Amino acid sequence: MTKKNPQGEVWIFAEQHEGKLNDVALELCGKARELADALGVKVGAVLPGYNVSGLAQTLVAHGVDRVYLVDDPNLRNFTSSPYAHVMDTLIEKYAPQIVLYGATPTGRDFGPRVASATRSGLTADCTELQIGDVVDSKTQTEYKNLLYQIRPAFGGNIVATIVNPEQWPQMATVREGVFSKNEPDASRTGEIVEEKVEFEPGMLCVEVLERFVEAKTVDLKGARIVVTGGAGVGSKENFQLIRELADALGGAVGASRAAVNCGYIGAEHLVGQTGVTVRPALYVAVGVSGAIQHIAGMQDSAKIIAINSDPDAPIFSIAHYGIVGDLNVIVPWFIKAIHDRPVE
Ligand SMILES: Cc1cc2nc3c(=O)[nH]c(=O)nc-3n(C[C@H](O)[C@H](O)[C@H](O)COP(=O)(O)OP(=O)(O)OC[C@H]3O[C@@H](n4cnc5c(N)ncnc54)[C@H](O)[C@@H]3O)c2cc1C
Repeated sequence: MTKKNPQGEVWIFAEQHEGKLNDVALELCGKARELADALGVKVGAVLPGYNVSGLAQTLVAHGVDRVYLVDDPNLRNFTSSPYAHVMDTLIEKYAPQIVLYGATPTGRDFGPRVASATRSGLTADCTELQIGDVVDSKTQTEYKNLLYQIRPAFGGNIVATIVNPEQWPQMATVREGVFSKNEPDASRTGEIVEEKVEFEPGMLCVEVLERFVEAKTVDLKGARIVVTGGAGVGSKENFQLIRELADALGGAVGASRAAVNCGYIGAEHLVGQTGVTVRPALYVAVGVSGAIQHIAGMQDSAKIIAINSDPDAPIFSIAHYGIVGDLNVIVPWFIKAIHDRPVE
């Protein structure tokens, strides 16, 4: 366990692959900046890789004060042991109070290894992070300025605020899209701290021979309009209605977990806590009840239209416009109205 350091920095893991920073790393910079400002401390970014020094200024422009650069040929590709060793070593040396990771395959692989090595906690898939105080109800001990690690829990029946008062650093993973990126400020200046970390031969026993990245087929995150179908759509064939409405609006097709589980559409369309987080200008939820895990991934949409036959469906509590009725009637009307609208 590393020492508890209330003056410690707020760190992010600057995940990059082949010299390109992940979106989530840049999204975390903005959140780390906000948390660090609340605590009155600096933001640090740990940047392991090979020939990646050019990325440091991008991190600074997004709000980082100090980049810990570990540039080493052994870190050319991500492999668990050396990357985790870099993080463990730097945590031990600098004692940050908070460390944030993207909930990517990489972050999910090595975040828990770092938590285990440093004997600290790690809350996965947080949907919000804040700074706040806590009083232990048993001992009446008051803890100031802890990281509130907030996420749905117990199958979504509660939104839990998890704190880690003793075993620091406080660590969390966050999925891509949960926080939005800050506008970069190219005039910001920061410090680059070059670190050298020694590896034991056993840590380097895995060699990456080739990387193959499958191209994304659906861009939900970048879409201005998302039309999402839920279990209420009723069948794979009927999901064509959702596609037609999305086409008419010029939007992307999303899906709830229940629609994916029923086999109506592929998991790459999933919106929510375990899918993609979206913030489009318009989100149309069709036959979606509005479970907390779904709402976590779309509640920040600028305008939400919900179509549902149940007037008490929870989705209506966050919708700006609600239409109560059978989607099989409403959606064709909706599509016709779009096609019939006069061209300006
Ligand atoms: C750990 C965990 C993670 C999860 N992650 C996600 C996630 O990322 N994303 C996600 O979506 N879910 C997630 N879920 C599942 C979530 O709890 C809900 O089960 C799911 O969102 C429900 O999907 P739904 O709204 O399509 O289905 P339902 O809850 O079954 O709702 C269907 C809705 O359709 C309406 N309806 C039925 N027929 C019609 C009709 N003809 N016309 C109009 N309306 C109609 C009904 O009134 C109902 O409101 C997760 C659950 C867990 C436990």
